[in-house]
Amino acid sequence: SEAVHVVGAGLAGSEAAWQIAESGIPVVVHEMRPVRMTEAHRTDGLAELVCSNSFRSDDAANNAVGLLHAEMRRLGSLIMRAADANQVPAGGALAVDRDGFSAAVTKALHDHPLIQIDRAEVTGLPPADWRNVIVATGPLTSAPLADAIRERSGENALAFFDAIAPIVHRDSIDMSAAWFQSRYDKVGPGGTGADYINCPLIKEQYDGFVDALIAGEKTDFKEWETNTPYFDGCLPIEVMAERGRETLRHGPMKPVGLTNPHNPTVKAYAIVQLRQDNKLGTLYNMVGFQTKLKYGEQQRVFRTIPGLENADFARLGGLHRNTFLNSPKLLDGQLRLRAEPRLRFAGQMTGCEGYVESASIGLIAGLYAAADARATGLPPPPATSALGSLLGHITGGHIETIDAGPRSFQPMNINFGLFPPLASPPTRNPDGSRLRGNEKSVAKKQAMSARALADLDRWIADNLHIAAAA
Ligand code: FAD
Repeated sequence: SEAVHVVGAGLAGSEAAWQIAESGIPVVVHEMRPVRMTEAHRTDGLAELVCSNSFRSDDAANNAVGLLHAEMRRLGSLIMRAADANQVPAGGALAVDRDGFSAAVTKALHDHPLIQIDRAEVTGLPPADWRNVIVATGPLTSAPLADAIRERSGENALAFFDAIAPIVHRDSIDMSAAWFQSRYDKVGPGGTGADYINCPLIKEQYDGFVDALIAGEKTDFKEWETNTPYFDGCLPIEVMAERGRETLRHGPMKPVGLTNPHNPTVKAYAIVQLRQDNKLGTLYNMVGFQTKLKYGEQQRVFRTIPGLENADFARLGGLHRNTFLNSPKLLDGQLRLRAEPRLRFAGQMTGCEGYVESASIGLIAGLYAAADARATGLPPPPATSALGSLLGHITGGHIETIDAGPRSFQPMNINFGLFPPLASPPTRNPDGSRLRGNEKSVAKKQAMSARALADLDRWIADNLHIAAAA
C-alpha cells in the first residue's frame, strides 16, 4: 500500500507511526529536530518529554489516566511499552527515565522495517501527493506549518494560546447556595433560560476573594511564551483583579440580570457563573476564570466562593502557549480535517492535554489511517472507554453556547467527568451495606473503569484481532 506520512514524532506521532507500521502499512515520519528545535525540546530524540517525567497515576481502577494507560497497553502501545521498560520509582504514579524512554521509542521506530524517518521541517501544507497524512506537530508547531494550517482552516480555527478556566464536577456544587438561571433569563438555541449555575458573593466575600487572587502565588510565564501576545478577552482573572477592585464585578463576576431564589431580597454584590461544559451535563466551567494561579492556590481560593466549598475540580485553570484546533468544528469523528480529509490530526493539537492523552490520540489516529490505507474502515472505540471519552471531548462532546464565542473549546486531560454516566450507579458495598459519602464516588469510578475495559476488549476482539492482554 501507499505510505502514510506522519508529521512530527513527539508523543502522538511516534505512537501513530508505530500503530500504522504494526498494521503492515509503510510509514514516512517527518521530524524537524535537530534541524530545527522548538522552544521547549532539548534533544533530537523522538517522543522527548519536555517537562515532567511523569505519566501520572497508573491506577486503572480508580483514576481516569491510569485507565487510559491500561487501554493503551491492551492496544499494543509503543509509548506505554517504552514507559513500562524505563520506569523509575514514583509511588502510585508511572514515572520514567526520560532519556531511556525517548531512546527506546527512537530505537523501536528506527528498527522497524516499514518505517522511514526523514529529519526535516514540513514548512507548509503537506504536498498534494501525500494522500494519507497525520499531522502531530504538537503545542509548539513550527510557525510556517501553523500559518499554513490556519490559512487552510480559517480565522479562529487555530489558537496559539489556551485560556483554561477551571472545571467543576456538577455533583460537587452546593445547590442550596447556588441556583440555575441565565442572565435576564435569556433563552438561546438549545437553552432553557436556566443554563448557568450562579454563585452569589456579598461585599465582604468579594473583597476577600479579590485580595486572595492578588496575593495568591502564580506560575510564571516562560520567557518565550510572553512573546506571543494574548488577547484582552482571555486575561488571567488575577490580572483583571489587579487592574482595579471593581474590575471583576464589571467583568466576569457582574451580578446583573440574576436573582437568587434562596435569598431574593438581598442583592448579590458579585456572582460567579458556571456554564455547562459537556453534553452529558456532568461538568461545569467557571466562566472567565482562566488563571495563572498555582493549582493548590486555585483550589483554596475558589473554594471560598459560596456553593463551591466542596468543589471537586475536573480541571484547574491555566494559560499557556499552545497551538490547537477548534476540533469539534473542524475535524470529523475520525480526526480528519473536514475541509481536506487527507489530513488527519493527532496529539495535543486536537485539544487534548498531557503526554498520555496526546499519545492515545496518536494511537487511534494511527489505527484510523491504517484502516484508510487498507480501505477497510474502523468503527469508533466504545464511548464508554477512556479513549472513546477523550475522542468525544475532541470531536463531539463540546457544546457551543450562545455567548461562548469561537474560542470556547479548550484542551482537557482525561477525567471521569467525560465518561457517559452509569445506567445504574452502585449504591451498596459487596457486603450489602449502603455506600456513604466518598465511597459512592470511589465505587462509581471503579464501575466506570470496569465497564470501559470490558467494552474496549470486545471492540478489540471484534475489530483488531490483537489478543487482549490483561
Ligand atoms: P510533541 O510531543 O511536542 O511532538 C511534536 C513534534 O513535532 C516535536 O517532536 C516537534 O519537533 C515536531 N514538529 C513541530 N513542528 C514541525 C514541523 N513543522 N515539521 C516537522 N516536525 C515538527 N504534558 C504532561 O503530561 N506533563 C508535562 O509536564 C507537560 N509539560 C509541558 C511543558 C511545555 C512547555 C509544553 C509546551 C507542554 C507540556 N505538556 C505536558 C503538554 C503535552 O502533553 C506535551 O507537549 C506533549 O508532548 C504533546 O504531545 P504531541 O505529540 O502532541 O506534541
